[in-house]
Amino acid sequence: MDLLAHSARRPRRDILVIAAGAAGLFAATWAGRTATAAGRPITITAVDTARKLGAKILVAGGGRCNVTHERVAEADYAGSSPAAIRKVLRRFTVAETVAWFEAAGVPLKVEDTGKLFPTSDSARTVLDALVREATRAGTELVHPARVTQLGKEGDCFVATTEAGDLRASRVILCTGGKSLPKSGSDGTGLRLAQSLGHSLTSPIVPSLVPLLLPTGHWITTLSGLTLPTAVTLRSATGKKLFATTGSTLCTHVGLSGPAILDASRHWLMTRDADAAATLWLNWLPGESPESIDRLLVEHQRRGGLALLRERLPDRLARTLCQQAEAVAGGDLSREARKRLVSLVTATPLPITGDRGFAVAEATAGGVPLAEVRLESMESRVCPGLHLAGELLDVDGRIGGFNFQWAWASGFVAGSAAAAAALAVPPVSTS
Ligand SMILES: Cc1cc2nc3c(=O)[nH]c(=O)nc-3n(C[C@H](O)[C@H](O)[C@H](O)COP(=O)(O)OP(=O)(O)OC[C@H]3O[C@@H](n4cnc5c(N)ncnc54)[C@H](O)[C@@H]3O)c2cc1C
Repeated sequence: MDLLAHSARRPRRDILVIAAGAAGLFAATWAGRTATAAGRPITITAVDTARKLGAKILVAGGGRCNVTHERVAEADYAGSSPAAIRKVLRRFTVAETVAWFEAAGVPLKVEDTGKLFPTSDSARTVLDALVREATRAGTELVHPARVTQLGKEGDCFVATTEAGDLRASRVILCTGGKSLPKSGSDGTGLRLAQSLGHSLTSPIVPSLVPLLLPTGHWITTLSGLTLPTAVTLRSATGKKLFATTGSTLCTHVGLSGPAILDASRHWLMTRDADAAATLWLNWLPGESPESIDRLLVEHQRRGGLALLRERLPDRLARTLCQQAEAVAGGDLSREARKRLVSLVTATPLPITGDRGFAVAEATAGGVPLAEVRLESMESRVCPGLHLAGELLDVDGRIGGFNFQWAWASGFVAGSAAAAAALAVPPVSTS
């Protein structure tokens, strides 16, 4: 819609949703449905900076959009307190997500990994359904229009956009975090929340982001290799801070793949406080130093390389032996065996950084959930403002958890904002 043509004489809306990403479209839909169920229409506008809506939804899950996961619990998330995250997740469950998309004409299927995708294998069908349902529920979509300021005049919110002001009694702020800024989620929404009195957690770092190794590190020579691993983050004192098992991809600049992506936010969050905190990689998940040592001793004659090649890709087995200086075909010296055992089960990863928000799938940090009333997602510091989605200090592991957070928090914010709008008696026109 051409906002320019209308901005000067736009009437105050009941609800202004900033913006129309996953959480925003869902919140707008539920606001409209709540009003319809109450038999009293309300005015809902969703404004977004993007020329084409839903860029992030379209690229999600490799273009297939991993909409949710068969089992979602607070333990799948980091950031705010698990009890607070659970309270929101329980309001809109996976079963409700499945039913919602089915009713919207997008049946979902569960894959072996537990991830749910549309049976169409097309993210486009997910985006189209979200836009269709929001529109059907009465949402006016206004874009491209970037909100640059958000303030309050008495009980009226005023959103300043490049194309004019928008006024509303309630605002649902769903501008996402800072990941994939070219999609429109460039972090301005965090500043808007701050301008209305909210604090932001510190630091705010990329989540689900590939990690970098020093140039020329031996792992980078294995570029293209993908295999199951166990990744552990330990403090300088050796305390286990995070552990996960999953696929790891060696790249020409470092490491990626689900296990590394899941570990990334934990490493990035820890490094400022504990510069010596280290990620360790076990190339044979399930095996311990003791079990590998036993194996090497039992099969002493065959040598380390032969044993490792039975369990690991040839390229990796050779590289590990070279790095441990355990290349001899037959008997390993005790020292060489120890070096090999240690490298196979606990390769230290001298991470130098991350690939940044430009490629990160999510944002770790944001507005703390403690500043929001969980039953309505209404701000505790700015009445009438509701918040949802990745803007909040909640980030999920890989597997559909971030979208489930967007659906659940968007549902709560949209339904509650509409209920509050409906509680205000309609202005008499007689
Ligand atoms: C490459 C990639 C793949 C992903 N794959 C998956 C997946 O398969 N499954 C999963 O669960 N999660 C996935 N995610 C994460 C998921 O996309 C996000 O967590 C989710 O989209 C967050 O929803 P949101 O509505 O809070 O924010 P966003 O989807 O980021 O939407 C925010 C919206 O706000 C708009 N906006 C921002 N600032 C302004 C402003 N100032 N004025 C107006 N509009 C503004 C943006 O244009 C955007 O439309 C992926 C992310 C990426 C980057």
